[in-house]
Amino acid sequence: SIVVTGATGHLGRHVVEQLLEKVPADRITAVVRDAAKAAGLADRGVRIAVADYDTPATFDGLFAAGDKVLLISGNEVGKNRVDQHRVVIDAARAAGVALLAYTSAPGSLTAALVDDHRATEAVILESGVPHVLLRNGWYHENYTENLAAVLEHGAVVAAAGDGRVASASRADYAAAAVAVLTGEGHENKTYELSGDQAWSLAEYAAELSRQTGRQIAYTPVSVEAYQEILTGAGLPGPLAASLASADASIEKGELAVCTGDLSRLTGRPTTPLAEAVAAALKD
Ligand code: NDP
Repeated sequence: SIVVTGATGHLGRHVVEQLLEKVPADRITAVVRDAAKAAGLADRGVRIAVADYDTPATFDGLFAAGDKVLLISGNEVGKNRVDQHRVVIDAARAAGVALLAYTSAPGSLTAALVDDHRATEAVILESGVPHVLLRNGWYHENYTENLAAVLEHGAVVAAAGDGRVASASRADYAAAAVAVLTGEGHENKTYELSGDQAWSLAEYAAELSRQTGRQIAYTPVSVEAYQEILTGAGLPGPLAASLASADASIEKGELAVCTGDLSRLTGRPTTPLAEAVAAALKD
């Protein structure tokens, strides 16, 4: 079986959709916390397993020898995500899975949010399970899902200075995961996944201006000011701090590294940012 955790999340949904194009539904297992959220997948013949990273026993017997497993990193900032991921890694080792792929963060990234990913990678390496590290770069959606606020203020506000971002769409990262899960010869490899082109926030604002016919400027602010803006907009403190420190990393060029790994794995160019913007403006 090909088993996908976080299958009802944004990335997981893309992965399962793309797997359905390549393998029979009954060879796919979606690991979900809430079976109701996966009802549509069950209707299409995907096997559903209900499990929670916080409850190790729910992973007992979930994997079988020879399975290929995609561990999608958790999203609960503030919880011990390394312990959560360890539950899945331990279960994968006990079952003797053929491959454990993990959605990690770029090797170039130093922002605090990377700590959980580096620690999880270490647990995977120690486990001895055949693995693949999918070090995902930034999503286009980190920007395009916040278009409403940008259009409201007529400004892209960020603390990234003139830094560039080699982002790609979630669907692109999903396609890389699917290539690894359905292909051969990926054991113990690390892929640095990113978009084919890096862009600056000023270029992003210019693209938004072009597509909307409105004047949208990039307003660079300090990391401290950005963190305050985010908490003012209602984001929890730790999340605001994490996003602001990620912008500091962008300014340093840590998310601008283009390795070509993503398009090599998928066999096609990554989605251009302009295309993602056009799709988001249509919604
Ligand atoms: P989502 O938040 O949409 O999905 C996270 C998934 O993790 C959900 O399916 C969620 O389950 C599942 N999950 C969370 N906690 C648990 C738990 N305790 N037990 C079982 N499942 C759990 O994120 P994305 O799909 O967009 O991204 C995937 C991951 O990538 C994120 O979780 C995060 O680690 C990282 N990320 C990467 C970004 C990037 O730019 N590269 C940006 C943001 C996050 P449920 O569906 O039940 O909620």
